[in-house]
Amino acid sequence: MRHILIIYTCHAACCGERLSCHPARSRRVYKFIDSATTRRMTIAAAHLALRMFIFAALLFFAVSSAFAENGKIFYSDGPSDQKKVALTFDDGPGANTERILEILKEKNVKATFFMLGVSVVKHPELAKEVAAAGHEIGNHTYGHVSFFAYKGADKEAKMESEIAKGEAAIKKATVTTPVIMRYPYGYSKKEAIAVAKKRGYKVINWTFGCDWEKKPTAEEMHQKYLGALKNGSIFLMHDLNGNPRVPEFLGKFIDEIREKGYDIVTVSELIKAE
Ligand SMILES: [Zn+2]
Repeated sequence: MRHILIIYTCHAACCGERLSCHPARSRRVYKFIDSATTRRMTIAAAHLALRMFIFAALLFFAVSSAFAENGKIFYSDGPSDQKKVALTFDDGPGANTERILEILKEKNVKATFFMLGVSVVKHPELAKEVAAAGHEIGNHTYGHVSFFAYKGADKEAKMESEIAKGEAAIKKATVTTPVIMRYPYGYSKKEAIAVAKKRGYKVINWTFGCDWEKKPTAEEMHQKYLGALKNGSIFLMHDLNGNPRVPEFLGKFIDEIREKGYDIVTVSELIKAE
């Protein structure tokens, strides 16, 4: 429509006659205007397309980075571009907690304790001591149910109640509300992550752990942990069962981590930068 008006106006300005009077001339005029207009329109369209592309790209990156910051629920390590690692202790408080606390205090390290509800109920003062020393407390559920083995039809409801009971025990003893959790045995299937998310938790597994193995000596175990040291490592150990080998090498292991230029931080601190 716009083309026709332009042609008519131009033609009228040239000779004042109707387009239909000089079809050959009007075609030539039409061609000239069409070519120039097409060029302008092509340039304008290209500019518009470029602007739309830039806008879409910016929108995509904004949404992607927001999702990365807010949407990630499951972790088994921290950022690979930072020399930071975390030490985590599961199932306590228990037989090894006091000794581990002493070592961490001596080395001025803050660790993360994934406490088990039943252990907290048994040793509320010890749980309180861990919190008072400034360590991070995570929820390891209440009764250490293995959801790999659990076959009940109420599996998701059971997960939720285990998390809720563990959380209640931790809150009562330490007056802190955990925001990270670890399922027993590192269960991390889709429905487990969804339940944790619903309860407001991030789920943390580990990069390396072997302190439950019976064979290795303390030194062999120490070397295995040291061999797994890398950016973002989350180390798993236990403070419940009185494994005497962990306190034997923990202090030396901490020194070596630092000598190699790594910072030891809590899990929340470690994953914050992701
Ligand atoms: Zn456990």
